Amino acid sequence: MSTFDSSCIFCQIIAGHIPCRKVYEDDEILAFHDIKPWAPVHFLLLPKLHIASMAQIAPEHERLLGRMLLLAPRLALEQGCNPYPQGGFRIVCNTGAEGGQEVQHLHLHVMGGARPWLRG
Ligand code: 5GP
Ligand code: ZN
Repeated sequence: MSTFDSSCIFCQIIAGHIPCRKVYEDDEILAFHDIKPWAPVHFLLLPKLHIASMAQIAPEHERLLGRMLLLAPRLALEQGCNPYPQGGFRIVCNTGAEGGQEVQHLHLHVMGGARPWLRG
C-alpha cells in the first residue's frame, strides 16, 4: 500500500527524507520524538499509511489503530513515563482545525513525565 504524500511532512519523515529522533518503527507504524515537546516525554505515534486524520478512519484501519493503541503504553514506559497510577501518560489526537491539528497525517501524541509540563 503506497500512500506517500510528498506534501506531507510526516510522509517525508517516514520516507527518511527528513530526520527524526526515532522511538519505534515496524512495517506499518513509526514513533518519534516531537520536535517541540510539551512534557518531559512527548513522542508521536503514527501509521506509515497516509491517513489525514481521525475523521478519515475506516473499518479497514481497525487493526492498525488497535496496534497503535497497544504500543502506546509500552513505548511510554520505555521512554521514561512513570508507572500507573502515580505516573501515567496522556494520549491526544488533535483532529481538524477546531481540534487543533497542524499536521494532516493522523498521529497520536503520547506525553508523560513529572509535572509541571509546558502545556496541558
Ligand atoms: P498537531 O498539532 O498536528 O496535533 O501536532 C503536530 C506536532 O508535530 C506538533 O507537536 C509539532 O511540534 C510536531 N512536528 C511538526 N513538525 C515536526 C517535525 O518536522 N519533526 C518532529 N519531530 N515533530 C514535528
Ligand atoms: Zn502523510
